[in-house]
Amino acid sequence: MVSETQSVIEFRKVSKRFGDVVAVADNDLAVRAGEFLSILGPSGCGKTTSLRMMAGFEQPTRGDVLIRGENVTGVPAYRRPVNMVFQHYALFPHLSVAGNVSYGLRQRRPRPERAGIARAVDEALAMVRLSGFGGRRTHELSGGQQQRVALARALINRPAVLLLDEPLAALDRKLRRDMQIELQNLQRDVGITFLLVTHDQEEALSMSDRVCVMREGRIVQTGSPRELYDRPGSRYVADFVGKTNFFPGQRHGEVLSVRPELIDIAADAAKLPEGLSARLPVKVLNRIFLGEHTEYLVAHAELGQFLVMAPRKTERDHGVYDIGDSIAAGWRREAERILPND
Ligand code: ATP
Repeated sequence: MVSETQSVIEFRKVSKRFGDVVAVADNDLAVRAGEFLSILGPSGCGKTTSLRMMAGFEQPTRGDVLIRGENVTGVPAYRRPVNMVFQHYALFPHLSVAGNVSYGLRQRRPRPERAGIARAVDEALAMVRLSGFGGRRTHELSGGQQQRVALARALINRPAVLLLDEPLAALDRKLRRDMQIELQNLQRDVGITFLLVTHDQEEALSMSDRVCVMREGRIVQTGSPRELYDRPGSRYVADFVGKTNFFPGQRHGEVLSVRPELIDIAADAAKLPEGLSARLPVKVLNRIFLGEHTEYLVAHAELGQFLVMAPRKTERDHGVYDIGDSIAAGWRREAERILPND
């Protein structure tokens, strides 16, 4: 059994080179049993390579990979208690849904008995809310349903960790949102550790217990979505996780970051709320209506341009400002973050 505190997967000083390319650079990471962890970063930062080293499809150039405390460096993928779900989930078109889901079990030797396999398929399909779909062909399913079959195919093995490589990238926006919620619920229900790779910060923030941000092969910060958003350790993380404004810092190598939703605007400085540390005359340069809020691009004579997100409630109380209007903007001291300008 894995105890609460034991890491289910661990990287110890793991590096991976492909020729001259350093894909992963000297990373330590401990994935906790039962958590939903996302690895977030831009294209090419080493996310997939990290996942493939956990799965055993790649071996580190240096360092060790541990699964449930056991050093598995060099152990091939089929001997590891992990399963991977890919962006292109490649179901077998000639097999039924049940045939796809049971595939892994039917390859086992000795082969489990037929009734046991049927029971496991029913359970796995129920987990992904596809009970009764076992007899269908995969081309008779929607994209979201096919993705759920791919999940069931991995979950039937009851892996210690499910590794998900951009599994929702092929789905349209609305379906992706639904599947994000579903994946999160599924993870809570089955209690299996999920490790998701994504370049989509919204996806990482909304689904995960913890997020690990990567940059050029290195893990730069790991924390809960709220910690990363409210207490980013660097300009890079603040910029990558959510939208923010940067202003020159007092000292060399520092920036001041203020999130656009923490900025108040009003027709003039006197109408701004009490207790603000900054009150600035600004001009409205642009306005974008985004449904639940309106995004204003404003300009201050010295600080330059910055973004403000005004919720609908503000509009209700103060009205809408037009391009060219001279207004006032301000924020509280707590909204200010001084960050290293990396
Ligand atoms: P994406 O989001 O685009 O999938 P990623 O963060 O998953 O990107 P990786 O696929 O891990 O990034 O790649 C990291 C770096 O390693 C990239 O520069 C990539 O070109 C390089 N790389 C990955 N696999 C190989 C390989 N088999 N041979 C050579 N270089 C590789």
